Amino acid sequence: MSIDNNHKENHDAERTLSNSHLAERSLGFGTIAIHHGQEPESVTGAVIPPIFLSTTFAQIPYVGHKGYEYSRSGNPTRDALEKAIAKLEGGKHGFLFSSGLGSTSTFFSIFPQGSEVIVCDDAYGGTLRYLNNVASKLNVVPKVADLTVPENIIPLITPDTKVIWLETPTNPTLKVIDISVISRLAKQNNPDILIVVDNTIMTPFFQNPLKHGADVVAHSVTKYINGHSDVVMGALVTSNEEIAAKLRYYQNAVGSVPSPFDCFLAHRGLKTLHLRMKKCEENAMKIAESLINSAMVKSVNYPGLESHPQHAIALKQQSGFGGMISFVIKGDKRHSQAFLNNLKLFCYGESLGGIESLIEVPAIMTHASVPEAQREKLGIIDTFIRISVGIEEAEDLLYDINFALKAAQNVK
Ligand SMILES: *Cc1c(COP(=O)(O)O)cnc(C)c1O
Repeated sequence: MSIDNNHKENHDAERTLSNSHLAERSLGFGTIAIHHGQEPESVTGAVIPPIFLSTTFAQIPYVGHKGYEYSRSGNPTRDALEKAIAKLEGGKHGFLFSSGLGSTSTFFSIFPQGSEVIVCDDAYGGTLRYLNNVASKLNVVPKVADLTVPENIIPLITPDTKVIWLETPTNPTLKVIDISVISRLAKQNNPDILIVVDNTIMTPFFQNPLKHGADVVAHSVTKYINGHSDVVMGALVTSNEEIAAKLRYYQNAVGSVPSPFDCFLAHRGLKTLHLRMKKCEENAMKIAESLINSAMVKSVNYPGLESHPQHAIALKQQSGFGGMISFVIKGDKRHSQAFLNNLKLFCYGESLGGIESLIEVPAIMTHASVPEAQREKLGIIDTFIRISVGIEEAEDLLYDINFALKAAQNVK
């Protein structure tokens, strides 16, 4: 059935967010996640736009193209997700990469030889591995510091300092770093220093670093944004036009771009990010509270707990506390092993941010590449356990944890 042209025009006008009565409103997170960059497809009206798998696009000889030439340089399915993530972070430009580390390595490739980077001491293990073992051989000199004390950056800043890279809350110790204080201190020294925040753990739903003085936001889309543990992808967002132009050039020149099918899956995940983040936070709060009251638990790290050393900073820059918890179990490796062996719902594995609950021992898994002395300094010992709380029912998760803690308690 076809519709007449008049009707079609009205219909299209209603459907375009930027061109309707809704343009005046600042729309809520879920509305943007579902609608931004996702107009029904213009030819057929398909509510979910098709996946543009084509690697190349027909052009007109000596005239030009319709916005796309070759899928490494640009692809409509990728564009839609880039737009949506940028909008949700409050940024102008979004760029997607084939992994979170693909974003990181492409980002650092824009700097000249000898550029210095200050990075927080418990950044994601792969970020530190890239900076210390790869970028240090190319163009970048990394300097590691505890950025929960923002003044620690001051003695490290030189005329070659180009970037301060931080993650907050950090992983796996969940320390909170004050983004606006770091940004102010750095820019007082040199306004050209770029502040980059890896916002993977909070997601744009709970924290928008650009609003607190960051210049670039980095994401492992692999985690919460995709949220279903079936896509590896990374993103960068910025409102800085000069950096955006460089990122666009390097995204194409370096070539670590995601496939259209992965972009489709991650975009589908993004549309329920708000629901998933609310649920995993609700579950995480209950689990954190239950853990602090357990006789088998020595200490719990969760920024939502009033006892967390940077709870006040978390309240200032985050609108929630997320789904990551870490804790130290009492006893030794035998006790943590008994605990882990007796869990049924928490899958023992790396990664985080999926619908399912995951649990791991960072010292021997995700953070094994961090030098032992550094790990010990951060408290990442053998009995230090990290949980990525999923969106199952809280009562079932608590039952599973309490059962396994009892099993650990029975180890003599
Ligand atoms: C997983 C992760 C990364 C790296 O992302 P990949 O998609 O695995 O390459 C970077 N930062 C944080 C905080 C992460 O959890």
